[in-house]
Amino acid sequence: MSLPDTMAMAAGDHAAEIAAAGGLLLIDLDALAHNYQLIASRVPGAATAAIVKANAYGLGIGPVSRRLWAEGCRHYFVAEAAEGRDLRKILPEAVIYVLNGLFPAAASFYSAYGLRPCLGSLAELADWAAEAKRLGKDLPAALHFDTGLTRLGIPESDAGLIAASPDLLKGVDITLVMSHLACADEPDHPMNERQRLAFEALRAQLPDDLRAKPASLANSGGAFLGTAFQYDLVRPGIGLYGGNPFSDRANPFRPVVRAQARVLQVRAARDGAGVGYGATYRVAGRQRLAILSVGYADGYFRSLSRPALVSNETAPGGGVFIGGVFAPVAGRISMDMLTIDVTHVPEGIIRRGDLAELIGPNINLDDVGLRAGTIGYEILTSLGQRYMRIYQSGGTITHGDRA
Ligand SMILES: *Cc1c(COP(=O)(O)O)cnc(C)c1O
Repeated sequence: MSLPDTMAMAAGDHAAEIAAAGGLLLIDLDALAHNYQLIASRVPGAATAAIVKANAYGLGIGPVSRRLWAEGCRHYFVAEAAEGRDLRKILPEAVIYVLNGLFPAAASFYSAYGLRPCLGSLAELADWAAEAKRLGKDLPAALHFDTGLTRLGIPESDAGLIAASPDLLKGVDITLVMSHLACADEPDHPMNERQRLAFEALRAQLPDDLRAKPASLANSGGAFLGTAFQYDLVRPGIGLYGGNPFSDRANPFRPVVRAQARVLQVRAARDGAGVGYGATYRVAGRQRLAILSVGYADGYFRSLSRPALVSNETAPGGGVFIGGVFAPVAGRISMDMLTIDVTHVPEGIIRRGDLAELIGPNINLDDVGLRAGTIGYEILTSLGQRYMRIYQSGGTITHGDRA
């Protein structure tokens, strides 16, 4: 969606607020829905859950979760119990799993909000069983096994222990048996099949009733590894939000986020002048620069700085899309601002108040991650609170919490 479209739709209520915003985050809920349905269509035998941890990867857990619910999503995963509480208020009927498991003395918080811990140890299982006893009713939970990521999860060796002592599960209604892949971003990595076989082996050790429970192994990338990886539930995150789940192949998903920064000033710079803190960047000849109103405090990483003038856009360092072209960052990123080189844009095209695209259809999210020395996930979850968030859905836009 172009800026004039945004402005037209926002005419009235929000036009002045949008005009005054230094950074705009346009979140395309229709693209989110498209990505959800794309995954659902690839996993015909499984349900498609949504990972909405970290405020739905920075995009806003409310608008994202509500739209996914409308698309048929019924299973949600958060990292922390407090995120689960927030989501419970948004979606009273949703199934909500908490990935971080269960801390000591926290069980009553989970049960109060109808949260299902992903139990990653026998100690957590015992705490949840005690809570069930206290309440006098069965409580649902996932059993989370480690199959090689070596992060959270019950070790494979304890699967037999659970089978041998059914009392451990007393009062606990296991609604999901899950594990998590370490290398799903590389579909050809042998680790994927190794983990799948480990998951099979540990499930085979479980008592019959547990073996019959729904199972889940795949994140966004894993959902594309074939039906053997899909089990009963897939757990995509990044793909829903338009990031590339693969590190070595094309992104099948549609961009969801467009981050834009306001042009504060366009200015001429004289030959030899230093630009920005440290004066690391030297103006060569006559250059025109534009100052943009987003900086590292907004999650535009300082590692996107460019110490020197570059002649091509593939050189390290950040760049934006403005006036129909790619304009590279000039000098260091500041806390609240960054400078770009617009010498090659004809004079008069870029004006004060215009918007430059930092991430979006022209500036690929994962490419920004690479340029910053990280991944798209970290770029999304770092998008700062100062951005005015605008949600686009079916030709209408809503702003912030009202979405
Ligand atoms: C974050 C997470 C996911 C989602 O992974 P993506 O790569 O974003 O699709 C799935 N499962 C678990 C256990 C996670 O921690």
